[in-house]
Amino acid sequence: MKKSTPLLALLCAVALLLGGCSSGSAPESTPSQTVPATQSASEQTEAPATQAPETSAAETEAPAAERDVTVDFVVVGAGAGGLQAAAEAAFLGKSVILLEKTGRAGGSSALCEGYFWSSGAKINEETGIGIVQDMLAIAEKQSVDIRYDSKATDLIYEDGRVQGVVVEDADGVYRIYADTTILATGGFLRNEKLMKEYMPEWYYEEPFCGAGSTGDGHEMAMELGAHMVGYSNGGVWGFDGQNGYHMEGGMAPCLCFFLTNIEGRRFCNEYMGTLKNDLIVQQSDRKAYCFMDSASSYVSFMEEAVEKGLAHKADTLEELCEIYGIPVDAFMETVAGYNQAKEEGRDDPDFGVPNAYMVSMTEAPYYATYFDPSLTTNNLMGLACDEYCRLLDANDQPIPGLYGCGELIIGSVVGNGNYPSCGTCLASGIYGGAIAVRHACGQFQ
Ligand SMILES: Cc1cc2nc3c(=O)[nH]c(=O)nc-3n(C[C@H](O)[C@H](O)[C@H](O)COP(=O)(O)OP(=O)(O)OC[C@H]3O[C@@H](n4cnc5c(N)ncnc54)[C@H](O)[C@@H]3O)c2cc1C
Repeated sequence: MKKSTPLLALLCAVALLLGGCSSGSAPESTPSQTVPATQSASEQTEAPATQAPETSAAETEAPAAERDVTVDFVVVGAGAGGLQAAAEAAFLGKSVILLEKTGRAGGSSALCEGYFWSSGAKINEETGIGIVQDMLAIAEKQSVDIRYDSKATDLIYEDGRVQGVVVEDADGVYRIYADTTILATGGFLRNEKLMKEYMPEWYYEEPFCGAGSTGDGHEMAMELGAHMVGYSNGGVWGFDGQNGYHMEGGMAPCLCFFLTNIEGRRFCNEYMGTLKNDLIVQQSDRKAYCFMDSASSYVSFMEEAVEKGLAHKADTLEELCEIYGIPVDAFMETVAGYNQAKEEGRDDPDFGVPNAYMVSMTEAPYYATYFDPSLTTNNLMGLACDEYCRLLDANDQPIPGLYGCGELIIGSVVGNGNYPSCGTCLASGIYGGAIAVRHACGQFQ
């Protein structure tokens, strides 16, 4: 994360300028004209449905002032990051509203079933423990005012700082004024514009993430000068083109394969980890073909995959090539060059794999499968923030009143192109939510 410096006078000038052209629904009235009702969050929740305007949200231009509310914190997005932030704020005795635009909490955090099991995996079913359920229970216990089907559409930017959000729900539009606004809206894989601009090479891959990963928080903050940092990189590989993190698929990137493209040529250092994602999608059919021989210590995974119909086993490499339509001659030539270097104790001459890490491709039977990357939330690009999770403007200065956590800021956390360890994306939500709240409460000053 970037280290911030104290807010400069320049920021005020920039902020004032931005104020004039910030969010589309930034108040046209002066702050004194929009002083919100001093209703508490809990009172507001119980507001009778009869207050709902008859017009649709889009038709409702003026905010329904009687529904406006003031709280200490407004948190946008009820995934792992938002649940953590909201529970933390409530735990510290602050009033907090947690907005979720869909009908349930969880976002991508509820889908995650990989190295870091949050839900849906066997271990969760057996133990009854899952990150989202447990975090939701904690937030509810802390009496967090969670509002479902409530979408934050704009940041309220007044007097040089973010002062809350505009909310759209079935009853219309209202404003939540807050000392601190935390965006925990997840990723942007379902946002066509952001994908084309920041992850163009991944645009055509199928997203496998929460329905709410539409980059709302990114867009709202970017209107105030927030900017993207990090490395465009994504993808989950299941065996034989399967998406997502079935255990055998989740393990796939870790297994030691000999990889070629459909033309039978190697195209990467197989030990690049997630970095090879970008290279896979540059191949003519956007796939990688994976081979292993029987000397590998990962044979048991392949046996399991074969049993499930997710991989193939054959006595010869030629047979495997035929299954996938890889030209045998080209493939065998590639293997021969590779094997020769391995046997002679040389490093891989083409992509630099150290000799000790080169796999053998000599012992039958052989195994093969292919990776057809889909796109999950573990892309490594997100909004710039400092070590306190304050979102930074174009001059790398904190945007007053605005924090981010979770996948929204993943580029700041792991922006070097490497996915450093299991659980990184979830963790950035969970500790990010706590750091943001505690900093806003003055605990780190
Ligand atoms: C299949 C899969 C496997 C994964 N495996 C791993 C793993 O092994 N390790 C790991 O660390 N990470 C993994 N991840 C990534 C990780 O799950 C996510 O990065 C993380 O859960 C994101 O948490 P979040 O709170 O930032 O966002 P989310 O959990 O996506 O929550 C964001 C919430 O904000 C809501 N929202 C969006 N816009 C608005 C708005 N305008 N108003 C109100 N609400 C809004 C959304 O509806 C959503 O509920 C995986 C993800 C997937 C899909």
